[in-house]
Amino acid sequence: MSGIPDSAILELTFNCNHSCLFCYAPWLEEPSLYGRELSIPEWIEVAELLIRRGVRRFTLSGGELLLKEGVTKLIDFLAAHPERPHFTLYTNGSLVTRELVERLRGTRGDFAFSLPGIRCYRALTGSTWSVDGLIDLFDLCRNRGVPFGVGIVVTRPALREWKQLISLAVLSGAATVQIGPFLAEGRGRFHPELLLTCREAVRLGEEVRRFSRKCPVPLRFAGELFCSCRSDAACIRPPGVPEDYRPAPCSVEERFLVVGPAGKCRRCLHLPEEAGDVRRFAGMAN
Ligand code: SF4
Repeated sequence: MSGIPDSAILELTFNCNHSCLFCYAPWLEEPSLYGRELSIPEWIEVAELLIRRGVRRFTLSGGELLLKEGVTKLIDFLAAHPERPHFTLYTNGSLVTRELVERLRGTRGDFAFSLPGIRCYRALTGSTWSVDGLIDLFDLCRNRGVPFGVGIVVTRPALREWKQLISLAVLSGAATVQIGPFLAEGRGRFHPELLLTCREAVRLGEEVRRFSRKCPVPLRFAGELFCSCRSDAACIRPPGVPEDYRPAPCSVEERFLVVGPAGKCRRCLHLPEEAGDVRRFAGMAN
């Protein structure tokens, strides 16, 4: 990894109140990644350092970022920073309060919500939270003028629902929608039954691209079939991917810096491999 991209994903905590079968958090497959989480004062220090090094877009995630004690101090820090960084709270939505939505009003902050299914939502997320709860939250954000995007990971149980999921997001006021096939990473490596076949994933991409022409908001298809950062031997490929299939190199390394809950950089969202302490990497630590 060389240089610092202008976007950083800060994974604030290992903890989550959901247990999604498709979760790509790498520590779920590699327990050695667990360690002492950075505290919020340490995350503020990291954010300040990264802003000084040119980072202007932050995504705060986890785990579930809203389980991180004191997280609103980091949100307020970013909202008040004179360099005016943009920041996105990537959350499952279940812990978002009216007060948090109000906190984001008039800032450069927004939300990104995960919407993996309608009928299969609870089975996929292992939670008692519901799509109805998410729809109420979408309404609240729209009514209070706080922008939000929606991320849709398409698993086999949700394959028939993808158009409804996009429509639900758009009709609820999402500013952007990103959709793509499930990758068998993180906990997902233990659930290959969720994979689409190669043919289904390619067809999904074609249909989403057609759909995007009449979609009133930006609709992005994330078409990776597997994590191309991994060696072939470590890859779980969807059924039917030709042996000689060579995906385009993943662009995450150039576009994002990913920092895990213990403050270690990674070159890829899915890959357990670490690239050193973020403060050392960015030239702060000795
Ligand atoms: S996908 Fe998100 S909400 Fe689901 S278990 Fe993983 S971190 Fe939690």
